[in-house]
Amino acid sequence: MKRVLITGAAGFLGSHLCDRFIAEGFNVIGMDNLITGDLKNIEHLFPLERFEFHHHDVSKFVHISGNLDYILHFASPASPIDYLKIPIQTLKVGSLGTLNLLGLAKEKSARILVASTSEVYGDPLVHPQNEDYYGNVSPIGPRGVYDEAKRFMESITMAYHRHHGLDTRIVRIFNTYGSRMRLNDGRVVPAFIGQALRGEDLTVFGDGSQTRSFTYIDDQVEGIYRLLMSDYVEPINIGNPDETTILEFAEEIIKLTGTDQKIIFKPLPKDDPLQRQPDITRAREILGWEPKVHRFEGLKIVYEYFKSLSQDELYQAHRDFQS
Ligand code: UDP
Repeated sequence: MKRVLITGAAGFLGSHLCDRFIAEGFNVIGMDNLITGDLKNIEHLFPLERFEFHHHDVSKFVHISGNLDYILHFASPASPIDYLKIPIQTLKVGSLGTLNLLGLAKEKSARILVASTSEVYGDPLVHPQNEDYYGNVSPIGPRGVYDEAKRFMESITMAYHRHHGLDTRIVRIFNTYGSRMRLNDGRVVPAFIGQALRGEDLTVFGDGSQTRSFTYIDDQVEGIYRLLMSDYVEPINIGNPDETTILEFAEEIIKLTGTDQKIIFKPLPKDDPLQRQPDITRAREILGWEPKVHRFEGLKIVYEYFKSLSQDELYQAHRDFQS
């Protein structure tokens, strides 16, 4: 039976990946230091014999006994709020963490897939963004700790591939949403839905003309799975090209939730990219992948998920966010 290590296992993407690999019949080792992850995302897996959990920070030496076939490196704070709060850990997990996991992959002769991001394109001057675009990133801005760590991650992963012949994959993940997102991580999907559920006004940053393209979690996981099983080593964008302005998006959430609250405008955070849309030609051609779930459909599912949370969770998360 194949054995896979998933780092960031208690996070949003990591926990959904654990579910997928369990469903595919793998033995899954989940690893997380629980700084931004939450055990409740994977507690349903604990009774399974094919699942084990290691509470560990991958920025420190990583030891796994026995064989390992695949490694998926998904550990990292992943929202601007998080990396502003814990910038050094963000830099360390993308750099030292990646180095440790590449070393482990080499030792075990395992294939490794690293989670990169559309943030490597920064505030893009090319639209839509294809994988050949080098990006427009400020190394010293507030997002630099994430963006540059991920750019380093890509660079060292390609170096291990070229220099050591390591079997590597790089996915560039665009904005993704789904159940298990943290209500207090500041990202726009949980932010707006949380505000609607608490009966608060929706906070649009800037004038709301900035754009994003939102991918439903099941589509994202399918793209990552196909990439891992492919033999393609260059980076691949996985995202939904269906682009919307944030103002339109806020209006959609108001309609979806039926809230009678209004939209209020707040200052645009520094280095907030003005537009973002993946060019997924490569994913289509090489992986035969494209998104299947339309935003309206996916958002309904996510809204039901957030509605099912207790009032305590809804308000506690909000208090944590404000403190
Ligand atoms: N945003 C917003 N209101 C919020 C949270 C986010 O208008 O309460 C905006 C944010 O400025 C950005 C977009 O929504 O332009 C997406 O933000 P998110 O943090 O989800 O992702 P990222 O900026 O990393 O793409």
